[in-house]
Parts: sequence; C-alpha cells; structure tokens
Amino acid sequence: DPRIHGIKNRIRVVPDFPKPGIMFQDITTLLLDHKAFKDTIDLFVERYKGRNISVVAGIEARGFIFGPPIALAIGAKFVPLRKPKKLPGEVISEKYDLEYGSDCLQMHVGAVEPADQALIVDDLVATGGTLCAAINLIERVGAQVVECACVIELPDLKGREKLSGKPLYVLMESH
Ligand code: 5GP
Repeated sequence: DPRIHGIKNRIRVVPDFPKPGIMFQDITTLLLDHKAFKDTIDLFVERYKGRNISVVAGIEARGFIFGPPIALAIGAKFVPLRKPKKLPGEVISEKYDLEYGSDCLQMHVGAVEPADQALIVDDLVATGGTLCAAINLIERVGAQVVECACVIELPDLKGREKLSGKPLYVLMESH
C-alpha cells in the first residue's frame, strides 16, 4: 500500500533512547502529520471493519493513541490495559518479564465479557512480552482475541513467536 511509505517517513528513530544501544521508534512525529496519522488509522479500520470485533483493547500508553479512533470507526468499545495502580475499579493482573525485572498489565473486571471478540492494539511489538500479557488478560475472562495490531514490528526480536499462535498484523518492520 503506497500509504505505508509516508507513514514510515514520519516515524523518528532516536538512537540511544532511553538507554545506550536502543534505537527508539518515536511515533509522536507521526501524530504531527494529519495525513500520515489518518492513513495509519484508515489502514487498520479497512482491515477490521465488518469483522465483528466488539472490543478494542489498547495497551498503555501508545495503544491509547491508536486504539480509540479504530474502535470508534469500527463500532467497538474501547478498553484500556493499564500499568499497575492506575485503574480505580476491581482489576485482574498479568505479570510479564522485561529484560531486567518484570512489569504488569491490569484490566477492569467486567470491561471485557466472555462473548467479546477482541482486537489488541499497541504502537510497537519488540519481544512480544507485552502483547502476550494482553492476550492472557483477554482470554482469562473468556473472550476471544481475533488479532493483535501494531504500527511497527522489530522482527529480529521474534515477538511474533511469543503470541501463542494469535495472528499479528503490523504496518511495517523496523530493524
Ligand atoms: P515488548 O513487550 O514487545 O518487548 O515491548 C513492546 C512495548 O514496549 C510496547 O508497549 C511499546 O510501546 C514499547 N516499546 C519498546 N520499544 C519501543 C520503541 O522503540 N518505540 C516505541 N514507541 N515503543 C517501544
């Protein structure tokens, strides 16, 4: 799709952020360009419209940027998957491993119901640990994960293989 090139051009790569050796993919520059941001959302909406998705689950923080416009356009509800101690209601939690230490995602109990068909949205998949935790949260409440969707994949880290067979759709790869 010719739109992908324009989107990729708007993602800024910042070397050595947040620490030495990391080539950080900065999507805030994409958001500054109305056409590139709209093309990004449109590509996801074209893929997911009419596929019976009832909930878009967005991962904190950048899944909160891309998830809601997709949810509105395809007629789904939006559920935030948040870092610990942010959600005020009763939550279920899923811990996952990081390079050093661990982190956790939480979801409000009752936000996703057993009959729901979920799309999980984030900006980027690296090791796949974050998406894997999100999949587990959705499946633990009895709902189905239709697909995971990200703007960028870092393919060398093989995150795709950590998603227990769930499909992963990305707009582009970055190395
Ligand atoms: P993973 O769990 O797949 O190793 O890491 C993915 C998570 O880390 C995503 O929530 C993503 O937002 C964040 N992340 C890791 N590296 C980058 C990066 O280079 N750019 C951006 N925008 N997010 C990143």
